[in-house]
Amino acid sequence: MTDQPPVTTTDAGCPVASDEHSLTVGTSGPNLLQDTYLIEKLAHFVRERVPDRVYHVKGGGAFGHFEVTADVTQWTKAAFLSEVGKRTPMLARFSSVAGEEGYPDSDRDVRGFALKFYTEEGNYDLVGNNTPVFFVRDPMKFPDFIHSQERMPDSGLRSNNMQWDFWTLSPESAHQVTILMSDRGTPRTWRTMNGYGSDTYMWENAAGEKFWVKYHFKTEQGIENMTDAEARAMRAEDLDCHRRDLRDAINRRDFPAWRLEMQIMPYEEAADYHFNPFDITKTWPHDDYPPITVGRFVLDRNPENFFAQIVQAGFDVANFVPGIGPSPDRMVLGRMFAYADSSRYRTGPNYAQLPVNRPVTEVHNYNKDGPMCYSPIGDQPVYAPNSYSGPRGEPQRYRDPGWFVQAGDIMRAAYEAHKDDDDFVQPGTLYRDVLTPADQDHLVDNIVGHLSQEVEPFVQERAVDDYWTKVDPDLGARVARGLGLGPSARPGRG
Ligand code: NDP
Repeated sequence: MTDQPPVTTTDAGCPVASDEHSLTVGTSGPNLLQDTYLIEKLAHFVRERVPDRVYHVKGGGAFGHFEVTADVTQWTKAAFLSEVGKRTPMLARFSSVAGEEGYPDSDRDVRGFALKFYTEEGNYDLVGNNTPVFFVRDPMKFPDFIHSQERMPDSGLRSNNMQWDFWTLSPESAHQVTILMSDRGTPRTWRTMNGYGSDTYMWENAAGEKFWVKYHFKTEQGIENMTDAEARAMRAEDLDCHRRDLRDAINRRDFPAWRLEMQIMPYEEAADYHFNPFDITKTWPHDDYPPITVGRFVLDRNPENFFAQIVQAGFDVANFVPGIGPSPDRMVLGRMFAYADSSRYRTGPNYAQLPVNRPVTEVHNYNKDGPMCYSPIGDQPVYAPNSYSGPRGEPQRYRDPGWFVQAGDIMRAAYEAHKDDDDFVQPGTLYRDVLTPADQDHLVDNIVGHLSQEVEPFVQERAVDDYWTKVDPDLGARVARGLGLGPSARPGRG
């Protein structure tokens, strides 16, 4: 801070006389139209917002770097992963899914875990969550899923009934809902949760060999969650507890870090794998594909301007660099359209020119003009083909990553089932083999508490009979008891 504050200026940089008094005729006369500084100030004020993200609205984030810690060149030719010790600057944004800006950070929800790597081959965005799976496996159901988590059209209220109606009619959600209802649904901080790419992606090495991969970012701070009661108490104490915690930690130089572990499946093994490896409602058991530690990232710089650098950050699932690509995972293929389109809607077609979204590489293509365009392309031709040395694609060097597809009829159909594909087997394993008895108790209490809030009896019954009992009969029985739906309480049962 200097002793002498700067002179206020208009947006054009011209000095102004006052931020206290508008221009009037005498002390009680009317305001004057020629007070253009006042008009600029009010007009800018009412335009301060851009449209929210449709979901993942409430969030926060920070800058840092990613560092490679193991040689991965046998699996990918991505330049930013090419050498042990190599560092790439990055941005991370964490978020809740359902609530609007101002919503309590501690509410039960999945948390977004969106990463942008500013690599020398362009931006690589990996947009995941703090859970390894997702609620639905087909993008056709995605808007319906989000609607069911948000507000009702008539009352504008959120509705547990709506959530459970959707979930119990969508059995593929059982794995994700089990994790959501465990204490992992209420992380203590963003620093103390894991992140997952969730979708399956492809890595390709310099020789053209392909691998299917899953990303796991393990918190080096250790997993810490709140109990349901602690999360509810936190609502009253601090709505912004997660945003504040991250900012405070970085300010006190307690920089949070995550270790990147990869699961890597050779290309050919997908066809006969016992689960469909592209189904985002499934994990790959660690015994089948043991995670391999390949890097870590550290967050060490808070944003200087939250709106410019975090609200306006656009993460685009389609931002891949050579050596990384999508997979037949239908969710990732749908998300590759929707994320960039969301940014075009929110901040305009030139959103990628904003400093937070701009790559460190030069951009050359035939997109031009549009609102807020400020990257001059100079005298480069604006059409292709051209005779004036305009940019050209290199089909040999930058082939689109792809996979073999057996030609077939055009259809709308579920994935082809693999041997062990079943919506309930993996959440059942989680409940029986991974959760401790205390975790199981919390899961039951959290489910019962959630299902007890204005959920219609027939939806509760479906949740017991067609959902939790299928995950695990003991879990179903405990939820039924908690809801007062024991066999004797239900006519015709038992
Ligand atoms: P493992 O015993 O090797 O792995 C179990 C994993 O579960 C742990 O490594 C941990 O993953 C995760 N976990 C621990 N507590 C919880 C919790 N409360 N909520 C959610 N996840 C938790 O077994 P498998 O690989 O065979 O997987 C068994 C089950 O574990 C799966 O069906 C799935 O539900 C769950 N799981 C599996 C993951 C995977 O990628 N294989 C990842 C996460 C969960 P982490 O260290 O990533 O937190």
